[in-house]
Amino acid sequence: MRITEVECHPVRVPGVSPPFVWRDGLLGSPSEGEAAVLRIRTDEGVQGVAMSPRRGSGVILADLLDRVLRKELVGQDPLQREWLWHRMWELDRTEELPLYLLGLVDTALWDLAGRLADRPTWQMLGGYRTSIPAYASTVTYSSIEEYLDIADQALELGYPAIKLHAWGDARRDARLSVALREHVGDDIPLMFDGSAGFDLPDAIHLGRALSDADYLWYEEPMREFSVTAYKRLADAVAVPLLVAETSDGAHMNSADFIQAGAATFGVRASTQLRGGFTGAMRTAHLADAYRLRAEVHGPEIPNRHLCMAISNTTYYESLVMGNPISRESGIDAHGLVHAPTGPGVALPAGLDYPPALQAFVDKETVTPPRA
Ligand SMILES: [Mg+2]
Repeated sequence: MRITEVECHPVRVPGVSPPFVWRDGLLGSPSEGEAAVLRIRTDEGVQGVAMSPRRGSGVILADLLDRVLRKELVGQDPLQREWLWHRMWELDRTEELPLYLLGLVDTALWDLAGRLADRPTWQMLGGYRTSIPAYASTVTYSSIEEYLDIADQALELGYPAIKLHAWGDARRDARLSVALREHVGDDIPLMFDGSAGFDLPDAIHLGRALSDADYLWYEEPMREFSVTAYKRLADAVAVPLLVAETSDGAHMNSADFIQAGAATFGVRASTQLRGGFTGAMRTAHLADAYRLRAEVHGPEIPNRHLCMAISNTTYYESLVMGNPISRESGIDAHGLVHAPTGPGVALPAGLDYPPALQAFVDKETVTPPRA
């Protein structure tokens, strides 16, 4: 089988309504924009698709296809995923590919493999489970009182665990974290995501509060450039650290965090930021070798597949936004998300796709892209 064509299909993605905010300093929910779907066609009629949900992806992907990727991919065997994954890293050396596009070809090839076998991609990766608990991952709210109300709603909806994205003010965030623990009691797993809002002294201050309040993990408190800073944080706080979500280099970078003793809970795994399914699975297996977790990052459909294929992951990340919040499509009243059943990966439902892409849209759930 040979690849005969690679195409970029722009897809309009609406803004989130109502809009939400992240910590101080970060942009909030994206407004309407143009995402992109990569479509790979073959001489045997089998096809694969992958979506880059980031607004602006359409222009960048179309340019990359025209200048670099089409001549690289056409004529290749689409089942040689490993070879093509290594080719992407070679191309990255001169192109400095956006991290969220580096794994897009790999994701489309895994979609194609699933469609060829008429199996969901998580089974092709090596199925581990058929359902997993989802945690409520909050956006940033305006007050401690509102967070406590959101927590009550999340538990009422069936979510068994809660992760905070707070303000990026270490002292205020510490007060919130302690108040939430007191509010929900000792038995609800709580996590904190710093979205890289702190320097080392502030990260230590907040980390000590999270340690005292028995948080399950402390995620990305600083930009993930200095492994040394993370090692010093790990030495200073008891709460386990979950790191290497947004850093470049996939498993090669995650390895340095682990080797330094900085990934005391584990590392992040996602198709978007770890180089597609191939990079995410490598990262998970690396963490497994050290008896660490590889927690799947982000609520998109490819990450549902990863959740079913990675043994050493605990939860699916489900974003809750607005007030009142609602349960994400496809999560049941017990807070479980179930394994996709259709072939391949599938594109998220609910978007205005061109006719050529309709056959690839998920038939089960509506999970609009959030990035
Ligand atoms: Mg995060």
